[in-house]
Amino acid sequence: MKLLTYSENGIEKVGVLTQDQAHVVSIEEAGLSYKTMNAFIQNITIEEKQVLENYIKENKGILKDAIQIQAPIPHPQQDIICLGINYMAHAVESARYKEEAFGGERPYAVYFSKRVNRAGADGSIIPAYENLVDSLDYEVELAVIIGKDAKNVRQEDAFEYVFGYTIINDVSARNLQTRHKQWYFGKSLDGFLPMGPYIVTEDCFTRPPVLSICSRVNGELRQNATTDLLIFGISHVISELSQGMTLKAGTIIAMGTPAGVGMGMQPPQFLKSGDEITCEIEGIGSLTNYVR
Ligand code: MG
Repeated sequence: MKLLTYSENGIEKVGVLTQDQAHVVSIEEAGLSYKTMNAFIQNITIEEKQVLENYIKENKGILKDAIQIQAPIPHPQQDIICLGINYMAHAVESARYKEEAFGGERPYAVYFSKRVNRAGADGSIIPAYENLVDSLDYEVELAVIIGKDAKNVRQEDAFEYVFGYTIINDVSARNLQTRHKQWYFGKSLDGFLPMGPYIVTEDCFTRPPVLSICSRVNGELRQNATTDLLIFGISHVISELSQGMTLKAGTIIAMGTPAGVGMGMQPPQFLKSGDEITCEIEGIGSLTNYVR
């Protein structure tokens, strides 16, 4: 199923895309009372999911173009957990840009977090912060949504805890990211997390999902890879983190970005006001945002 959050007459609703991909059914109409995607993820039962799947086969819903799609999880309950330097070719380009910040041996996964006051929708603006940021960059990433509280999970059981997947753009201010040593500030400015347009449930993919992932800036292909190139994969990450911390249902884990970001170009090419960035992942969709 492809799930989304949308607003209708100013009210946020959770919906499901119908099979023609052109219509949306609200879960309320299908008899479910969850008001937000977080509540849906935390509480949905197998039986309710079945009801929903049957309902969208028989009901047409409203035209997708007639509603305003929001980020699927507009208000993440906690900071996003992010993987840094998790594709080899991106490790190489990052070290070339700034060895002291991105170089060196990394026998273990790099984890950092990203504050998100409100996730941006498909079509939303990424603020340029021209007085603060001189090196605005994009990062297309596969994001894993945890479906039930995960603690001490074995690698072989990890996908049992995955609710679904979405696309995020881990927008980054490189000058802030490297100046402050820890990446938190440079990753967390308002508008720096476009997400969506859909969460596609885990049952629609192989374990692990092997998907093409790419980004374009003003139509020019920049990043182009597949998710089987992850250095530390989804089951490794869920298992490792859950040995020490509970990953609550609704947790968002961004799996890192492939090569081809602006700082990796020679010379680097950063985003500027007026640019259009599209992030695409096979089987999920595409997410386009505008720098202003
Ligand atoms: Mg990233």
